[in-house]
Parts: sequence; C-alpha cells; structure tokens
Amino acid sequence: MIRQPLEDGFITVSRAKSTIRFPAQFMLVAAMNPCPCGYFGSYARRCKCTPGQIERYLSKISGPLVDRIDIHIDVPAISFTRLRSKSGQLDSATMKQDVVRAGDVQAKRFGDGKVMTNARMSHKQVEKWCRLDSASELMLKQAMTEFGLSARAHDKICKVARTTADLAGAEDIAPEHIAEAISYRKLDRKL
Ligand SMILES: [Zn+2]
Repeated sequence: MIRQPLEDGFITVSRAKSTIRFPAQFMLVAAMNPCPCGYFGSYARRCKCTPGQIERYLSKISGPLVDRIDIHIDVPAISFTRLRSKSGQLDSATMKQDVVRAGDVQAKRFGDGKVMTNARMSHKQVEKWCRLDSASELMLKQAMTEFGLSARAHDKICKVARTTADLAGAEDIAPEHIAEAISYRKLDRKL
C-alpha cells in the first residue's frame, strides 16, 4: 500500500461510486535489525543466526519496496571511545548549514517548477541535471550489472549523487559522488 504514495506522492482511494486522489508526500525513515538476533556485524557480541535465518529475515521486506527507498545504509553500534570523543565530528549546526546551502542550489536549479528537490526529479530531469563523465558512467554501469539494479535504482543513484555533489558545492557529478550514492544501496545486494 505504501508503494504508490512513495512513488508519486498521491494516494488513490477507489470506492464503487468514485475515485479520489489525495496528496500524500512524505519522507519515509525506517529501521530494521541486520538479523533476527540483532548482532550480525557487531563487534561487541556474536550473532547466533544461520545464513538461512538471516536470508529469510531480510526477505520479509519486499524487493519492490526496497527499490523505492533512496538510501539504505548500515548503522553500526558506536564504540565507547567514539561515543565519548568530541573530536572530528560534524555538529548539527554545521550539518544544517550544508543542508540549507544544498537546498538553495536545488531551488535555483528548478526555479518555479513543480519539482523542488533532486529526489522528486523525473527521468527527463535526471538526464538533464545528472550528466556523468565517462569514469562515473562506467562505475554506474558496473554496479547496475553486478547488483542487478533496476531502472528505478539507476535514477535514484543519479539523484543521490546529484545531492552529494550539491552538498559538496560541486557543479558537476564526479566519480566520488556516484561511488557514494552506489554505497547507499546496501539492501539491493542482500536481497
Ligand atoms: Zn543474528
């Protein structure tokens, strides 16, 4: 049920006499454990699950839904030392500045159009605003083949790379932006 609003920002309710379309744009943030016991990949405790159990657990979330989520990442537990250390961390205020700046870049890019953010670009806009150099093109091609990515995942990678470039203040998408965007498709590899 969540697929349609995720995809086009509308929800359609059909009854015998009429069909009504409601606006339903939202940001989906979801979390799941890496395995049934929750410790797969943890440095602190040992995971007791079998590969079969992990596979069955991960397959509970449907491929088409995962395909519609822009960014999937691992969030490992934080070690005590890192938890206590104050150095080298990006604080929320700086992060906010970067986000606002990237938002301004996007507002300028799309002008008064219906689309306001990279995430909402149509395929045509992706072609226009996410031009890739040959190195990025090759990297994307390899990822598509290796992980069997869909056309939708292809566009999502381009959009996320565009945002990564915007956050870095870069005019063009560079290979490191595409590489970062590809690394955010973790679940495509597991399912
Ligand atoms: Zn486990």
